[in-house]
Parts: sequence; C-alpha cells; structure tokens
Amino acid sequence: MSNTNDIYQDALNRLRQMGQDADVSPEVLDSLMRAEVVVTVSLPVRMDDGSTKYFTGYRCHYNDVLGPTKGGIRFHPQVSRSEVQALALWMTIKCAIAGLPYGGAKGGVEVNPKALSPMELERLSRAYVRAMADFIGPDIDIPAPDVYTNARIMGWMMDEYETIKRRRSPAVITGKPISLGGSLGRDEATGRGAYLCIREMATRLGWVPAEIRVAIQGFGNAGYHVARLLQKDGYRIVAISDSKGAIYSEEGFDIESIWTHKMQASQVQGVYCEHAICELVEHKNISNDELLELDVDLLIPAALEGVITTKNAANIKATHIVEVANGPILSEAENILLERNKIILPDVLANSGGVIVSYFEWVQNRSGYAWSLDEIRARLEEMIVKAFNEVWHTSMHEERSLRSAAYTMALRRIGDAVAAHGTREYFKNGKK
Ligand code: NAD
Repeated sequence: MSNTNDIYQDALNRLRQMGQDADVSPEVLDSLMRAEVVVTVSLPVRMDDGSTKYFTGYRCHYNDVLGPTKGGIRFHPQVSRSEVQALALWMTIKCAIAGLPYGGAKGGVEVNPKALSPMELERLSRAYVRAMADFIGPDIDIPAPDVYTNARIMGWMMDEYETIKRRRSPAVITGKPISLGGSLGRDEATGRGAYLCIREMATRLGWVPAEIRVAIQGFGNAGYHVARLLQKDGYRIVAISDSKGAIYSEEGFDIESIWTHKMQASQVQGVYCEHAICELVEHKNISNDELLELDVDLLIPAALEGVITTKNAANIKATHIVEVANGPILSEAENILLERNKIILPDVLANSGGVIVSYFEWVQNRSGYAWSLDEIRARLEEMIVKAFNEVWHTSMHEERSLRSAAYTMALRRIGDAVAAHGTREYFKNGKK
C-alpha cells in the first residue's frame, strides 16, 4: 500500500475536517486529536530452530470516554505505530456511531505471519498477551481479530491471559472459537453488517440486485461474507482479489465454491491459506489496482487502508463505494471522489457489524448465557439498521456526505459523554 506512511496524520486531517462540519466543542475535538496511551513492546519468540527472534508489537487505547476500549489485533508486516493509532481513532468513532459502551483501541504486530509455523505463531500470540496482560481486561480494553488474526489466535490469547491471571476470563477478548466462549455469528458479522447497510442503501436508491455489478478487493473474513450475502440476493460479483492478485469474470463468480476451495487448502496447510484465489478458479487475471478502477456499480475495498489515493481517485469508475476495510480511501482522495458525485458508505458505519457482534460476545461472556444465532442476527440487524438510518437521515437533511454525517453523530455522542462526566467546567477553564 502506498501513501500510508502517515495514515494517522491523514486520519487526523479528516477528523479536523469532519469536526468543522459537526457542531461540537473545539475541546472535545481537541481531546480526540491525540491517543490516550500507545504502548510499544518487543516480543521475544523462540523459533522452531531454537533461535530467538524479536517482533515489535503495539497497543493503543485511543479514547475511553464511552467505556472500556475495544479494537482488533493485526498481524502484518506493515503494522506501524501510525497505523495502530489511526485504526484506534476509527474504532472510537465507530463504537460511538453504533451506540456501544466502548471507547476505541487497536493493536498489532509487525510480522509476516504466513512465514511462521503454527507453533511459532502460537508463541508470538502468547508473547503479545504476556506483554499486554496489565493493559487489557474485560473492563479495561478488549481485543478482537483483525487482518491475519482469527478465532484460533484469539483462543491462544485468551488462554494465555487466563493462565497469567489464574482465573477464567472469556470476556477479555472477542472473536474466540465457539468452544471457548466465542459467539455464534461473529465470523460473519462484519460482512453481514456491510451487507445490511448495502441492502438499506439499495432500497433507498431503487437498485435491482441483478443489474448491479460488484468488485471486491480482499477475499478474507470480511470480503467473503459480504460477497456471499450479496450474491445470495442476486448481485453479480464480477471481481474479487487477495494479496496475490485479482480475478475477473463478466458473468460473476460462484463465491461459495471459491471459498470452499480456499478453506480446503488452508486446512491442509495450517493457519493460513497459501493458495492465491487466482490459482483456485478459472478466471481472467487482473491486478489489485485494476480491480479498483473497474467499471462497476459497487466497489467494496475489503483489504487494507490507503488503497484509493490522489493518484487513482480520478480513475475510479464505480458510482458507489462501500468501505468494508478500515480507511481504504485517503482524505484528499475522498474529496476528489465526492466532487465526482461518488456515494461513499464509510468504514465507521459499513464495517461496524464486527464490533457490534463482538459486543454481543462480551455481554454473553459476562452473563454466562449464550444466545442463538437467530437472536444474534436479529439484534445485529436492529442495531446496524438503526445506525444506518440515523447516518442517512443526517446526511440527507443536513446535506453532508455520509462520512460527515457519521462523524457528526459520533462526535456529538462523545461530546455528550464528556459533558456528562462532569468535565464541562474544566473545559471552560473554570468560567461559568
Ligand atoms: P483477513 O485477514 O481475513 O483478510 C484480508 C484479505 O485481504 C485477504 O484475502 C488478503 O489476501 C487480502 N489482502 C491482504 N493484502 C492485500 C493487498 N495488498 N491487496 C489486496 N488484498 C489484500 O482480514 P479481514 O478481517 O477480512 O479484514 C479486512 C479488512 O476489514 C481490514 O481493513 C480490517 O481492518 C477490516 N475489518 C475487519 C473486521 C473483522 O471483524 N474481521 C471488522 C472491521 C473491519
């Protein structure tokens, strides 16, 4: 990904721009212009050959005014302090929009996890929790999966935390295996939430699914489920991609069979699938950059941040973009897209299904009572459709972009909580 070296600076520029639109006090905005705490740790990991390697890990508690902080852990070579802070800021905004009792956090390790054996990966996951054990907790900060981390890794992390604390504590982390207190529906939650937002948008725009051509960048947890659900409704998924490349088919792909192939390959090989989707199906090969510029109706970036920049924004042909990845469009690129009348459903709303069902998992763990899949899906739908309606309504009535409407909602909620905490006088410098 290019142009992402200072993704946090870009996130702050956007926050400043959004804050000018919203009627919130400058002090509230100022409090969000910096992270509360960012921890950097060095993680020694014993490799299978007996040597020790050191990996850099991060955890950021961005803002906890609405509750304990919440955010995923990413394992990726490009993880950086800047990226972790940007992602934690977006979690703060996202939790506020969804109406969750959480602040924002994020974590990550600079590593290519596919280069590690399953045992090395487990040792790294446990080392991360050993380093962060006093910094996370069910009432402090609750991690979850993100790019290249999954339920299996969350299970190892919970196990390590419980070993250190010498007590059961399933609510310390979400996205766990079902057998260790994970929630039904968590695996599909991000994709399902995005699908529900697209469904609501489609109703308002009068879309006929069979006429809508969709390109999806990133065929991981989030990308697969949104693709699957859209296809079920009749949408034509004409392009998908992973880190190794993209495939294109004018007739549209059968999402389920591609995913089954990918999963079978990963079962053979361990935690990650080494087979690129290009190797698994009949296809026309294109690049990830070409996928973004396809002439489609709906573009869904569902991989990493910073993929739409000032360099390619003018070439984007899709009329609608739904950000399933966090931060796929840099702020200046968004201005170009908005000038070209593109409709952008922002990440802080479109991918909030993941944290909503993570919240359900946390609630279930704390009450010791598991909900049915139907109940989880119904509650997710209720919460995300409500958030969507509020954002859409604000956008239409206050004539602002969907992102500006979403940030306005979040900033007002955070502002209300700051005031309710009793700090208003403090922010007025004692003046009544
Ligand atoms: P994942 O690890 O399951 O999948 C990531 C996918 O992106 C894989 O298919 C990978 O091959 C692909 N990819 C990686 N680098 C790429 C590149 N350079 N070009 C194209 N594709 C590339 O991760 P995920 O959980 O699906 O997360 C994807 C995005 O969704 C991230 O931005 C993440 O922060 C966001 N997100 C995820 C969740 C969640 O619950 N999983 C929740 C909210 C947001």
